[in-house]
Amino acid sequence: MTFKELGLAEPILKALEDEGYTQPTPIQEQAIPILLKGKDLLGVAQTGTGKTAAFGIPILHHLYEAISLRQNKRKIKALVVTPTRELAIQISESFTAYGKHTGLKNTVIFGGVKQGQQVRALQNGVDILIATPGRLLDLMNQGFISFRDLEFVVLDEADQMLDMGFIHDIKKIISKLPPKRQSLFFSATMPKTIVELSRKMLGDFERVTIKPQQATAERVEQGVYFVSKKNKPKLLVHLLHERPNDSVLVFSRTKHGANKIVKKLAQADIRSAAIHGNKSQTARQKALGDFKEGKLKVLVATDIAARGIDVEELSLVVNYDLPNVSETYVHRIGRTGRASASGIAISFCDQEERPYLRDIEKLIKQEVPRMPEHQFVDDGEDLSEPQQGPRPPRNQNASNNRNRNNNRNRNSNSNGNSNRSANGNRSGNRNQNSDRNRN
Ligand code: AMP
Repeated sequence: MTFKELGLAEPILKALEDEGYTQPTPIQEQAIPILLKGKDLLGVAQTGTGKTAAFGIPILHHLYEAISLRQNKRKIKALVVTPTRELAIQISESFTAYGKHTGLKNTVIFGGVKQGQQVRALQNGVDILIATPGRLLDLMNQGFISFRDLEFVVLDEADQMLDMGFIHDIKKIISKLPPKRQSLFFSATMPKTIVELSRKMLGDFERVTIKPQQATAERVEQGVYFVSKKNKPKLLVHLLHERPNDSVLVFSRTKHGANKIVKKLAQADIRSAAIHGNKSQTARQKALGDFKEGKLKVLVATDIAARGIDVEELSLVVNYDLPNVSETYVHRIGRTGRASASGIAISFCDQEERPYLRDIEKLIKQEVPRMPEHQFVDDGEDLSEPQQGPRPPRNQNASNNRNRNNNRNRNSNSNGNSNRSANGNRSGNRNQNSDRNRN
């Protein structure tokens, strides 16, 4: 299946070609025809599957086709609500990229910065608005936003909105939407509250499910080190010294923990920066910008701050702490191995985190391969996993699937660092796809 076969407007096909997209990803292949027919959609999928384009492309197509009917001043015709500023900015960049030959205009609004510039952009007129819930409600209440001409509404990362306490804001926003609209609802997981919310928002809908376990098994090579809490900084420093040229995203469960990791790395002369909710928007954007441009090699993030991070050539994700919610693991490792590119995710697991590891393995329906022993062992520390012998570090599935994916004509190996097994050794016989080409 090609984008052309999906029947998309010429300027969009041209933009996709410019982006280097040759084939739709599975979610795009399934969702785009449904959305072109005008149906509502429930998409059960995580970031990294190409879901932004799955909803962005049909919206742009519809708006472009109706362009001659539009009045002079641009009115908000499409709204995308997403939980974090980073994600909002990224979605806006995607709309700009896919819509660059259509003449359609988008803008992004989020909290944590002064509203003046955002209000001016709205007053100048936009076709597509991308927003985080708090600022959206705020500007709606101030009368800067009208939904009178709205035709398309996307609720993105609904489960994350719930985790972040946005559920009431979202319900308020939904209650203000015009009844005649096409609604799209995306969530990586479907807990009960989210199912209820989706029923409130969607009319006659079709469902597309892209399973997280496929995402982890197919594209991301995984490994886990058993290590004490105390030795985690040393192991991290060791891993980073082994890969001085790689872009590494380190996950910490807490903001405080993220700051501590940055300090420990600085003591070992490794430059890094933390992004989390306590950092100013400017500091977050600066750190993210430097990381995306490759000026900063190590970024330490909490889950919420990292939710939207989509970085070209992200070689490695390190779970410095294992998340206590298993779905979060899937989100985290989805930061690498974007779309069908490959990636590596290494986790550190201390004694207390062993139950989390078991839950994660249950969810992804596979064992996270055990990494070989390392040098940072405390006296009396129990490093061996109870009743389990050593296993090869590589994930057989990952390599089989990767070979299959090689036919997908992706960009390949521009940083020279991706032909590695999860334990950091080179394995030159593996013709991997790597390196995303956005941002
Ligand atoms: P998303 O899930 O929307 O965050 O997308 C993940 C990444 O995949 C982004 O870097 C996109 O630019 C990229 N991507 C999306 N669709 C395609 C495609 N059809 N071909 C290649 N890359 C894509």
